[in-house]
Amino acid sequence: MTPRSISRRAFLTRGGATAAALALAPRLDLLGTPALGAPTDRDWVTLADQLRGRVIRPGQPGYAAAAPGFNLRYARVLPDAIAECRDAQDVSTALRWAVRHDVALVPRAGGHSYAGYSSTRGLLIDVNAMTGVTVDTGQGTVRVTGGARNADLGAALQPHDVTVSAGRCPSVAVAGLTLGGGFGFSARKLGLTADALLETEIVTADGEIRQCDARTHPDLFWACRGGGGGNFGINTAYVFETTPVNDVAIYRLGWDRVDPGAMLDAGLELLASGPDELSMRMGFSVPTDQSAGVSLQMIGQLFGSVDDLNALLAPVLAIAAPTTREIDVVTYWQGKDLLADNEGPSAFTERSRFVPDTISNAGLDVFDRLVQRRPATVGPSSASVKLFNWGGAINRVPSDATAFVHRDAIALLSVGVSWAVDERLERVDALQRWADDLWAQMGPFTSNRSYQNFADPALRDWPRAYYGENLERLVKVKKRYDPQRVFDFPQAIPPSLRDI
Ligand SMILES: Cc1cc2nc3c(=O)[nH]c(=O)nc-3n(C[C@H](O)[C@H](O)[C@H](O)COP(=O)(O)OP(=O)(O)OC[C@H]3O[C@@H](n4cnc5c(N)ncnc54)[C@H](O)[C@@H]3O)c2cc1C
Repeated sequence: MTPRSISRRAFLTRGGATAAALALAPRLDLLGTPALGAPTDRDWVTLADQLRGRVIRPGQPGYAAAAPGFNLRYARVLPDAIAECRDAQDVSTALRWAVRHDVALVPRAGGHSYAGYSSTRGLLIDVNAMTGVTVDTGQGTVRVTGGARNADLGAALQPHDVTVSAGRCPSVAVAGLTLGGGFGFSARKLGLTADALLETEIVTADGEIRQCDARTHPDLFWACRGGGGGNFGINTAYVFETTPVNDVAIYRLGWDRVDPGAMLDAGLELLASGPDELSMRMGFSVPTDQSAGVSLQMIGQLFGSVDDLNALLAPVLAIAAPTTREIDVVTYWQGKDLLADNEGPSAFTERSRFVPDTISNAGLDVFDRLVQRRPATVGPSSASVKLFNWGGAINRVPSDATAFVHRDAIALLSVGVSWAVDERLERVDALQRWADDLWAQMGPFTSNRSYQNFADPALRDWPRAYYGENLERLVKVKKRYDPQRVFDFPQAIPPSLRDI
């Protein structure tokens, strides 16, 4: 990664300036205008005067609630200030101000980045206040502003009985979800959130507000469909195609104790052979005491009837009778609520791998052995392995049609651990080592690709794991729209492959 200060020197040198000319010339910022130096208290006030939203500094009302992100592992990475942006012009103003003062900046929408990539010690450009969602039933589209959450999107769509394929967690923002792909219980039938994107408004590193679609800035539009949040600009609006929906059959099954390998195998079979209308999430909870047994929750929906759903689930139900069982026909919106993930913030890590096909017996044995037991901690903690549906409409889009490359898997396997924020470091390390071990040992039976929206700071070859053969084109887009890395974080796409 190129540090910001080196970037600026490189910028000046590339301008061809000699040392003598440099000594006389005013110091330039990354955009080539005279730099203003580190901000004083007065400069922060000047920024506040220029914005429609507030600038919130440490200790001021609203700071404590708005500063930390969802993953409390990064709760100590707190911003020097939060620019609460109310529109694209606010975003542009805050961005230009930060660049001129050489203040690191990071955009935040829902704050749900797994790796804390929407946290900074510089300026947080927060688009949370932009929650407007407007449905155009005539056009079959919906316009979503920069900080709207899944819950805002759903609330606006519900009265019209149309939907956009989105995620399961109401508080995740449409921003990060879309930019890194976006899957949920409708994805096998309708595709990813990014697949439904028709246009987006984005403030690029030069402060310009650009409208992009397949014809205008097509390369930037391509990159915004799976290239990952925080890489190319700050998106301030999105237009999606909507799809009519009505009733669905949903299921929520629970087992207190399962044979993990057998259930994983059954889940993968279901995804490999089941129709696109079927979706599924399996969650294996791993105990600290092996004698307690591994419990399983399996949920999902079918765009179809209860009878069809029962027939599809029969092979899974035949392995072991569930302890809790709910299968019902509900409206699409009731289904969304019943299947929602309403968990609050915690400290956690999550590591993912795509699964191209069913897993061999050797792989199921490895899985079986590793999910039996996790290390104990002092405070509350958890460890789980999740299997998410993939395939269907997701895989019918060519892997280079958008920046989202993962178009050949049947499932996404993800291992996660969480712990109390004040947990002792060595116990957190032990938990993480357990997750690393499972992630590594499942390697030979899965692919070496990972989901960019489950950002994993421990991933070594993250550029290929997230972006595969689309990496080179993404680097070109970065070079064109953000050559000086105004948008930077540990796994940011660089403007040159040499910088990886
Ligand atoms: C509880 C939970 C449930 C989840 N469920 C799902 C799910 O069902 N399906 C799924 O696909 N994913 C899911 N995710 C993953 C989620 O999609 C990603 O974490 C996503 O990046 C979060 O977006 P955000 O805007 O909420 O987060 P943020 O942390 O605000 O943003 C994520 C990244 O995008 C950047 N960014 C934020 N706003 C903008 C913007 N306006 N323009 C450009 N870049 C921006 C940030 O700097 C950061 O790098 C879940 C995550 C959590 C924590």
